[in-house]
Parts: sequence; C-alpha cells; structure tokens
Amino acid sequence: MLDDILNYIEAIRERPVWQPIPDDVRARFRASIPREATELALVHNEFMDNILPFAAGNAHPGFMGWVHGGGNVPGMLAEMLAAGLNANLGGRDHAPIEVERQLVLWMSELFGFPPGATGLFVTGSSSANLLGVLIARTRALGVDVRKKGISSSAQRLVAYTSAAAHRCVTQAMDFAGFGTESLHIVPTTESHQIDLDALDAAIASDRQAGFLPFLLVGTAGTVDVGAIDDLALLAGIARRENLWFHVDGAIGAAAIMAPQIAPRLAGIQQADSIALDFHKWVQVPYDAGFILVRDGTLHRDTFSSAAAYLRPQTRGLAGGAPWPCQFGIDLSRGFRALKTWFTIKVYGTDALGAMMERTCELARYLEIGIITSKELELLAPVSLNIVCFRYRGDEADRLNARIVVDLHESGVAAPSTTTIGGRLAIRVAIFNHRTEPRDIDALLKAVLKFGAAAADEPNAARARLTPDALLA
Ligand SMILES: *Cc1c(COP(=O)(O)O)cnc(C)c1O
Repeated sequence: MLDDILNYIEAIRERPVWQPIPDDVRARFRASIPREATELALVHNEFMDNILPFAAGNAHPGFMGWVHGGGNVPGMLAEMLAAGLNANLGGRDHAPIEVERQLVLWMSELFGFPPGATGLFVTGSSSANLLGVLIARTRALGVDVRKKGISSSAQRLVAYTSAAAHRCVTQAMDFAGFGTESLHIVPTTESHQIDLDALDAAIASDRQAGFLPFLLVGTAGTVDVGAIDDLALLAGIARRENLWFHVDGAIGAAAIMAPQIAPRLAGIQQADSIALDFHKWVQVPYDAGFILVRDGTLHRDTFSSAAAYLRPQTRGLAGGAPWPCQFGIDLSRGFRALKTWFTIKVYGTDALGAMMERTCELARYLEIGIITSKELELLAPVSLNIVCFRYRGDEADRLNARIVVDLHESGVAAPSTTTIGGRLAIRVAIFNHRTEPRDIDALLKAVLKFGAAAADEPNAARARLTPDALLA
C-alpha cells in the first residue's frame, strides 16, 4: 500500500488531473454490506482500480479549482502513525494532547497571542468560524446564554462581515441561533475588501434602531479573489464599538509564515479569534482546521460541561485538565495535530512561507499571460494566489463555463468558476506546492484552444481531446 501510494504521488504528473467515474465503477459502490471476509490484498486492489484513479486530483499540479491543498508525504505518513495509535484527543493525560497543545503554542507565537490563549483542531474553518461566533455570543450575553438561549436578550444582536465573506459565516449565524438576517452584509470596495465607511454607517444605524452589535468578522483571503480586509482598521473599529473581532483566515492566515505576504495581515494579531485551515495553503492532508482564541477562559466557558464520567482528575490517566473536549463540540476527536506537527517540523515555517510566495508568483505569471493575450480578459485584481479571468466572446458566461468543463474532461487542468460583478469567471486558485510554470503554460494553452474551438462551433460536439493531443 505504501509503495502504491508513494508511486501515485511521485508519478502524478503522468495522470489526468481528474477523470469521470465510469458507470460500472460507480455501480460497484452500490453493493450490499459484506457479511463475509475479503482478503486485504483484494480490497487494496479494489482501491487501486476503482478509487484511486477517480479521485478529485487535488494532489495533481494541474488542480487549480476551489481552495484545495495538495497534501504532503510526511503528513500522510504521520496520519498512518496517528491511526495506528488510534489516539482519542477528547481528553485525558497522554502525549498526543501535548502535541495539540504544542500547535496552540506555535500558533500563539506566530500570531502574537498572549499566554492564556487557547486553540483547538476542528474539521475546517466552517467549524472554526462557528466556534468563533459561539464564543462571541458568550462574551455578549454571558455564560447564562447557554441555559437561557439568545431570546433572553432584550436587544437583537447583530454581526458584520463583508459581501465577499465565505458563506459558512452566514451559516454560523444560523447554527448559533441568531438567524442569517442578524448578519449585516457590508459591501466591498473595488479591491474586494470590506468597505469601512459602509461598516461604520451600518453599525451606527443598527445602534439607532436599538440593535446590539456584538461581532465583526474580517476575512484574510476571500474565496473569490483572495483579498485581505484591512485587519488593523477592523481591529480598531471592533475595539471602539466593543465587538468581538473574529478573522476568517481559512485561506490567508497561514501566510503569516511568508515574509512577503505577512505585512498584509497586519492587525490579525489583535483578533479575538482566528479560524485557519492547515489543509489548504499549509498542505497538511485533510482535514485540519483550527481556531485560536485570545481569551481562553471565555473559550472554555462557552463549551465546557461537567459530566461525572468525564471529570478530569489530578492524577492518573484521567488527569491532564483542561481537556480539548472542553473547548469545542466534539468529545471523541482524532489526532489531526500529528500530521500538522510533522508537516511544520519537517519543512519549517521558512520553507512553507516560501512555498506560499511561489504560488503567488505563479498567479502573477498567469496574470501576465492573460493581459498579454488578446483573447483573454482579467476580471479581478490578482492580490494573492487566485486569478479570475475569462475568454472573450459572445455569450461569454456560457462559453467560459464550457471551457472549464472541457478543461476538467481533458484532464489537463482543473480550475473552477465564480461570478465577478455578475460575470462568470474562470477561477484559478494555486494552492498546490507541486504546481509549476509549465502547469500554468499548459492551462493557458488549453484555455485558448478550447475557447477557440467553442467560439468557432458553439454547438458542435467537442472533439475528444486527450491531454497528449492537446499539448502536442
Ligand atoms: C475554505 C474556506 C472556508 C471553509 O473552510 P473549510 O475548511 O472548508 O470548512 C471558510 N472561509 C474561507 C475564506 C475559505 O476559503
């Protein structure tokens, strides 16, 4: 198994990025539950034949869609060790929890958080943002909100984020019981950052209306174009208005390791809580999200509950208080910290930061390819490692949607789409440490080829183009 998966990663360039699952393969996953044993080697063969070839391909250098990390081998091996230990990081006194605490200390160090800051591994930033909203709720209404609910507040609580924020921030407001309408969506500027004047105006008018502003969510790396809000000014507004300042740093917070990008995160050090994803830019295998919280007491007060069978002791295996399960939703928890600890130790933050800077250079390289091509049009400023553009032509939305599908089916590259100012864009997000200039060249060549073909014969069946034929 180890040989096969290492060979897969080593030779991944020779494969298509993605290929559709054939019907007969899909049908294999509709079988009934096996009552009898199957030899491990046979099950492994099935994995090799029916699962591995039809993965999304985000380990592939041509994968440029959504926001997917590429993973890394030390992280993968650490995951094997973690599974072998079968560690449960809900609580108790054992070294795996010290590894998670080490990560909390490292993140506190990177973001300049004080002693007493706490942190927790979660599935991803969707969860981390929800925890942030719940802690903000405790701060605004006191611990009693856990008993009485938000309806105990005479005033309606409102929160703020920008129109470019991730949709999970809206969901978090829903899950936390405030309702999505309690999230005031503030417009963005030309550069896709939150409009600070509009934010000020929204807070003032909400106060006038008798609402209670309690939370401000800034974004470090928006999902559409990678814009970073002015976090220092947001921190100032949050302080002045007595709001909890949460930063959704799913994409960008990790760039605190990159000297050329870190200055643009200035102000993140003043956040009350930060959500970040190691499984994106840091290349830790899925899943590895994290929340860092300045006020550890408030963090624990939001989630801790006393059940007799879970009460930490002062000695023995049941020692080691406080336990991670007192800081979040999950009781049983896997050892996500180990693959993150391995990744950061094996590479070091200098190399990880340099890798992030290289992905931004690749984005600028692609930007140059776009602005020097008469067929292509840049649709948003390139501020990080995300490039939004399109092929010019009639019915450009349909044309570009088709180009993206053609790219996926060709196996050459896998960008995704988004809408910028009402126009469909091909969105290239370079989060994979394996992506190189030649992958950008291949993408551009294929976009031009598919664009020309589709523009010439909008209704003709697309010729079957293999990656080889396309690049010939
Ligand atoms: C990916 C992402 C999220 C959600 O994180 P998950 O790890 O997918 O749960 C939140 N915010 C932003 C900006 C993201 O890019």
